[in-house]
Amino acid sequence: MMVARCSMLVGYLVPHRCEGRAMAACIKCARSYCDEHLSLTQAGLLCKACEQGRTQPLLLAATGAAALGALGAADLAGFSAAESTPLDDQDAFSDLS
Ligand SMILES: [Zn+2]
Ligand SMILES: [Zn+2]
Repeated sequence: MMVARCSMLVGYLVPHRCEGRAMAACIKCARSYCDEHLSLTQAGLLCKACEQGRTQPLLLAATGAAALGALGAADLAGFSAAESTPLDDQDAFSDLS
């Protein structure tokens, strides 16, 4: 017995196959998708990829790679700031008498 899985690839950085069970086929690409990735149009059921004009069944956040790059730059800036912090421990002991 074969259970059809949804053909959509989803994810932000690493694409993975949608876990949903395929409910129906897209009228344009003929792949099977779960109800979450199908839209009912006047012509019939259209998958989210075809709805967005994509040729591959891939739903990814376009800003994912850019956001990761910005995060890496911020981390590097934090490291260099920590290393250049001046030492002022000497004043902490000047009050002892
Ligand atoms: Zn489609
Ligand atoms: Zn799905």
